[in-house]
Amino acid sequence: MRYKKFQDIELSALGFGCMRLPKNSDAAADINEELAAEMFRYAYDHGVNYFDTAWGYHDHNSEPVVGKLLKAFPRDSFYLATKFPGYDLANFTKLPEIFEEQLKRLDVDYFDFYLCHNVTEKNIDAYLDPQYGVMDYLREQKKAGRIRHLGFSCHGQQDVLERFVEAYKDDVEFCQIQLNYLDWTLQKADRKVEYLKSRGIPVWVMEPVRGGKLADIDADYREKLEALRPGETPASWAVRFAIETEGVGMVLSGMSTMEQVVDNVKTASEEEPLSAAEKQALAEIAEGMIGRTALPCTGCAYCTEYCPMQINIPKFMTAYNDMCYSKGGFVPSITYSSAPEGHRPDDCLGCGACAAVCPQNLDIPGMMSDFVVKYKEYYSKED
Ligand code: SF4
Ligand code: SF4
Repeated sequence: MRYKKFQDIELSALGFGCMRLPKNSDAAADINEELAAEMFRYAYDHGVNYFDTAWGYHDHNSEPVVGKLLKAFPRDSFYLATKFPGYDLANFTKLPEIFEEQLKRLDVDYFDFYLCHNVTEKNIDAYLDPQYGVMDYLREQKKAGRIRHLGFSCHGQQDVLERFVEAYKDDVEFCQIQLNYLDWTLQKADRKVEYLKSRGIPVWVMEPVRGGKLADIDADYREKLEALRPGETPASWAVRFAIETEGVGMVLSGMSTMEQVVDNVKTASEEEPLSAAEKQALAEIAEGMIGRTALPCTGCAYCTEYCPMQINIPKFMTAYNDMCYSKGGFVPSITYSSAPEGHRPDDCLGCGACAAVCPQNLDIPGMMSDFVVKYKEYYSKED
């Protein structure tokens, strides 16, 4: 296993994400503990020393199961991460009771890493609101030795990430974002990494294989990669890309099978960095994947001041591209639902004032109307 230095400790390059543990049935909470224990054992024996869970994973059953399974190993031989579930605004008044319950569920005295979970457009105001005092409370827990390191995970767009960092720059020790060779451009992970590097904050990676999508790529892409590194799985390319990205201190993979654990451990154990040609191949594949649907918005925001409806056009461009590729997805729904009413794609007048100034000549009104159609199609089941 390769290790990366974080402050005065060494973290395995691969962390075990515990949001997609193997299950006995379709029920989220029905974790196959026997198989999960074997997977933990294999990972641990091969050097993985970071386990990441959260309050809500597996319908609240991840923390208790992870706590139980980690009893197989000495407490000081691994690092445990969990998170405050701020994705649900109702939890902001319950932080102390949730935190205490998490210690009980995981049956530990302290967390090595504790994150504000899923900072987005929807909850950033609550996270920064002094009336809830989220960071004040977490700071106290850290002083008391119940948290070793504080960070946050972020599915919000760039401005949200920056607001959180700027507000808590003395507290944030790491930041977890969605990063893979597709989202490098699709969700503009490249900008987030650059910004975090400039603030000296190490990047924790989630979804390196994009929920498994990059493990199951089209045959022509697969052949292209096979020609470069025979025998490597598509997933290993994705994990390697994340590990090799400058500024990344941890790559979390939510593993569901022993085969995935073995493959990821192998990838994270090899010192075989991607060559410039290999990086280029991944960039071309990503470009091909999104090429059919994505609009090449650069985020310059020249258009926004001309919009009579004050629609945040670049944000909706990013969300639209993601939605088209993912045929739904988490981030577009957050962007949509957190935008103020009256300033959403539904409110576009089709006036074209934006398109007239767009240096990329993008059909912005067309995107707005298609956004509305696709949003209804992909999210109608959730309405
Ligand atoms: S076409 Fe729509 S998005 Fe563009 S300026 Fe007019 S109202 Fe705004
Ligand atoms: S002007 Fe065009 S490229 Fe620039 S943010 Fe607006 S849509 Fe994107």
